[in-house]
Parts: sequence; C-alpha cells; structure tokens
Amino acid sequence: MSYEKLMQIYELLYERYGPQHWWPGETAFEVIVGAILTQNTNWANVEKAIANLKAADSLTPQRLCDMATAQLAELIRPAGYYNIKAARLKNFLDWLFENYRGDLGALQALNADVLRAELLSIKGVGPETADSIVLYAFEKNVFVVDAYTCRVLGRHGLIEEGADYENVRDFFESNLPSDVKLFNEYHALFVRVGKEYCRPKPKCKTCPLVTLPHEICPP
Ligand code: SF4
Repeated sequence: MSYEKLMQIYELLYERYGPQHWWPGETAFEVIVGAILTQNTNWANVEKAIANLKAADSLTPQRLCDMATAQLAELIRPAGYYNIKAARLKNFLDWLFENYRGDLGALQALNADVLRAELLSIKGVGPETADSIVLYAFEKNVFVVDAYTCRVLGRHGLIEEGADYENVRDFFESNLPSDVKLFNEYHALFVRVGKEYCRPKPKCKTCPLVTLPHEICPP
C-alpha cells in the first residue's frame, strides 16, 4: 500500500515538473563541496561560492587540502556561515587524505552502507549531507530525506509528526525499488514542491499533490 502511495506522489510530481537534472555539479568533488556548502543557505549562494573556487582554480581535493582555512573561508563567503563551512570542508579533506590518500575513486569502491557510515563519522557531516554525497556524488542507493519531504509526507498522513530521519529514510527504502535514478529524481521533486507549494503556509489549491488525501492540512 505504501508503495502505491509513494509512487502516486512521485508520478504526480514528475508529471507536473519533469526531470530535475540533479545534482548540479560537473564532478563528484564539486557535488561533495556543494552538499557541504548548501547547509542553511539557498543554492544560488552555493553557486557563487563554487564559482569563486573555480575562478581560483582550486576545486580539487589536493588544492583545497593545501589551501589555508582562512583563504578557503574567504572564497566560500557567499555561502554563509563561511568559517564553519570552511572547517567542515577541511574536516572532510583531512578524513579523505588520512584514510583514502585523497582518492575519491576509493570512496566509489565502497558499498553504500559503508560509505554512509564513514561519511557520518566526519565532524559536521550529518545524515542529509552524507546521503546527498552517497546518492548524488557516487550514484549509490540511499534516499535523501529533508524537511520538505517530512512536511509533505506528514501533511498527507504518511509519516508521524516528528518522525526521525532514519525512520523516514527506511520508509522510502523499504517501500520503493532500489533504483538510483528514482531516488535521485524523487528527492529533487520533493525539494521543488516544498519550495513552491508545501511551505509553512501551504498553497494546496494549485499544488500537484492536491488530489491526494490530506490528514493535517485539508485544501
Ligand atoms: S497539497 Fe498542500 S499539503 Fe499537500 S504537498 Fe501540496 S501544499 Fe503540501
């Protein structure tokens, strides 16, 4: 039953929006940097920070590893919380060089569960960031959960209010086929509908999901 409901949501969103072409990024490393920088800011600001790194010809693990943290913070300033995010990037790079000689190919060779657990051991990398890296940088199967996902599912009575990250992730992964393309597109579609319609004050009347039963928020 949950499978049908989840696929119905997916199809309604896909019908309205079509493919979202996530994650914007030319390389796995660019996706990783973007996933760390996007915490608590909008994507336009992340793009400016990444453009600065590219303009400085620094968007490689080795160059960012060699760069002073203060210089890195200055380059990523547009992403906000730049000192904290520079430290998080450095934590990731220290971990990458200490454990994998700076080789992203070694991460690609890990299975999804091991890679996820490894990423979660890095200070400043939480579940959403780790899962974004696993799914979008390495194309391995994990469902990325975010606040939009929880809001949409909660308002349609599919999860309980306050359900934790791991429970929601498990809900998707147990009820959907293990399909990287589906997981990739589905998360991006949740972000789209969350930004455009399922805001704190929802705009149900014109939302692609208005035909679904509502639990908390009748249209
Ligand atoms: S129909 Fe309303 S509650 Fe449902 S996803 Fe759209 S805006 Fe949110």
